[in-house]
Amino acid sequence: MAQTIVKFDQVSKKYGNTLAVSEINLEVEAGEFIFLVGPSGAGKSTLLRLIAKEYPPSSGKIFVFEKDISKIKSSNLPFYRRKLGFVFQDFKLLDDRTVFENVAIALEVRGHSDEQIAKEVEKILKLFEIWPKRNLFPNQLSGGEGQRTAIARAIIGKPDILLADEPTGDLDPQTSWGVIQLLNEINSWGTTVMMATHNVEIVNTLKRRVVSIRDGKIIKDKKEGRYEIH
Ligand code: ADP
Repeated sequence: MAQTIVKFDQVSKKYGNTLAVSEINLEVEAGEFIFLVGPSGAGKSTLLRLIAKEYPPSSGKIFVFEKDISKIKSSNLPFYRRKLGFVFQDFKLLDDRTVFENVAIALEVRGHSDEQIAKEVEKILKLFEIWPKRNLFPNQLSGGEGQRTAIARAIIGKPDILLADEPTGDLDPQTSWGVIQLLNEINSWGTTVMMATHNVEIVNTLKRRVVSIRDGKIIKDKKEGRYEIH
């Protein structure tokens, strides 16, 4: 049996009077690739942000790496977050740093040496085919290049879990496929991937586990699923 890496146990989250997710039970095994699908406002982002411990659930428990994350002290939160990679819309690249520097930050905070950072960043930027753009700033990049830089930053620290919220949201179909191939590859190296998306074609082609969310509830959960929100 594979290890359960994320577990939601009767989790609800309210923002004021809005019930964003309601009594969620969900288990994710280490190494899985999961799509979270559902209409805008369904609660997909909230589930990912709860795992990131951006805020606590209003009720219920969340276990990550088999530990109740409500027990993580704020002083230990950075260590916890370093095991996760985030590709969130509001977790943008830093405008005043180059592509290289934006990716290097992820290793700087982990205390790697300059030499190690130079080597690792070069490796990933070449793999993601953005090495020629390494000295450019985010506003000089295409949408796809920016997104590949964001994913490079999210995964260079070899996270156990990658949380991606609409990573292909603003991209054209071809660029979106490039991003998906990268996520697939990262997953094949052992990282668990949880991705919220509206992209029907990608979900239906990949035939991975699909968790459908509507009005804050899981309405379907299928291995080798399709994009279904009804
Ligand atoms: P999705 O990612 O599926 O679009 P969200 O998780 O972002 O859905 O939102 C779920 C519900 O929670 C929506 O009704 C949304 O308006 C509400 N919501 C999300 N974030 C906040 C917030 N920071 N403050 C208030 N309401 C929020």
